[in-house]
Amino acid sequence: MRNIILINLLFLLLPMAFAGGDRKIISTITSTETICVSDTIPFSIDEEELADYNDSLISLPSDGLYGSWDTLNIHPYRFDISLLNGTATIPLCSENSCGYVHPFLGDVTSNFGPRRRRFHYGIDIDLETGDYVGAAFDGKVRIVKNSQSYGNVVVIRHNNGLETFYAHLSKTNVEVGQNVFAGDIVGLGGNTGHSRGSHLHFEVRYMGQPINPNSIISFDEHRLISNALTLNKKTFSYISEAKKLGKKSKGKNRFHVVKKGDTLSAIARKYGTTTQVLCKKNRLKRTVTLRNGQKIKI
Ligand SMILES: [Zn+2]
Repeated sequence: MRNIILINLLFLLLPMAFAGGDRKIISTITSTETICVSDTIPFSIDEEELADYNDSLISLPSDGLYGSWDTLNIHPYRFDISLLNGTATIPLCSENSCGYVHPFLGDVTSNFGPRRRRFHYGIDIDLETGDYVGAAFDGKVRIVKNSQSYGNVVVIRHNNGLETFYAHLSKTNVEVGQNVFAGDIVGLGGNTGHSRGSHLHFEVRYMGQPINPNSIISFDEHRLISNALTLNKKTFSYISEAKKLGKKSKGKNRFHVVKKGDTLSAIARKYGTTTQVLCKKNRLKRTVTLRNGQKIKI
């Protein structure tokens, strides 16, 4: 009976969750698990259930810093670097644990920095499809989704405000809202999204802004370099270089990944080019049948 009341309560509250306001919203992988908590709960909930709600609020990592818990958009944050004055220290060890676990013990195949006229915001680690990929630190899973660029990707928010990204996975092994410990398997390595060959694309971000993972992790020795990350304007000095590259590469080496129903003419329209140009760049005939997942150079 109590379960029926609880489920009804969640359905009644669900529309309120999308109505905005200053309510806290925790969205998880299924709609029946979506919980909306307002200051005044107009239903009688017993102490145990109320404690569960409060626990779930308290356990949102770094809630005060982010002020939101977006489980749908990978990059919802806009961190204004100009507001960063002086130096901030981000602890890499929590009170209870200093447990860093390297996501996968493989060779680095592509580093953080400029790459083929674009900026690479993560580090690529070589692996075979199906290899286990583990969480680097303890945290809570914010994103589990398939994106065109990242492929199957898991994003974990950590208590210190950092987020880590695990991309191009063949399979994910965690759910949104799940608490994970360092070393827990978040998925299996793969070659999904914009990827040429199986590898793990690993990113570290703070408020959405990439951090060079080499500044905290030794990828040769598979360990943390320091117990804390120092954040200042120098940490983000790569941004001006990335912006320059972005301007240069505009219109160059862009790809479209073919989805069901795509045609050359529709792709040409989407990118403001012509079928003739696409055929020439990709050495294709106008009559070609595109296959799902095929990469078309724009
Ligand atoms: Zn990468």
